[in-house]
Amino acid sequence: MTIAYIGLGSNMQSPKQQIKSAIKSISEIPEIQVLKVSSLYKSKPVGPQGQNDYINAVIKIETEFMPLELLDCMQDIENQHGRIRKEHWGPRILDLDILIFGKKIIQDKKLTIPHPEIEKRPFVLVPLAEIDSNCSIPGIGLISDLLAVNNQKDLELLYE
Ligand code: AMP
Repeated sequence: MTIAYIGLGSNMQSPKQQIKSAIKSISEIPEIQVLKVSSLYKSKPVGPQGQNDYINAVIKIETEFMPLELLDCMQDIENQHGRIRKEHWGPRILDLDILIFGKKIIQDKKLTIPHPEIEKRPFVLVPLAEIDSNCSIPGIGLISDLLAVNNQKDLELLYE
């Protein structure tokens, strides 16, 4: 069994519902136990502007999957939620990223772990710190150090 963290994001078609529904779908996978769920956060889009704000969250899971099996499973859930892969950083119904997978460092054509965007993205760092304030990101560093150098002004905690 491996502890892993998944980042969830959506900015289309009732984003809060998409995130809640994705967490439910993940929790129904027999090979995955959801251990912790962060609050929902609202963030400004990265990349092309003129898109809706994003809703983000992070979950902590335990899984018996290998990394590529977990990626396939997350992509199946994205597809079930109507995800169409078009523009990089463009609007999306559901985006599921494997942020951390145990202590593994992977640089594969299909999978980079830890996720390359973690250390620069407040919408990942803040929910990750909320569920695991001592989290250490393999090959990168402590969550507390990363948060200290990231501007969080465009991130809003949602109380619902
Ligand atoms: P995006 O459209 O930005 O969500 O990128 C999706 C692609 O990123 C997928 O086809 C994956 O193969 C690749 N990818 C690389 N590393 C990761 C990761 N840690 N989690 C999820 N997808 C990843």
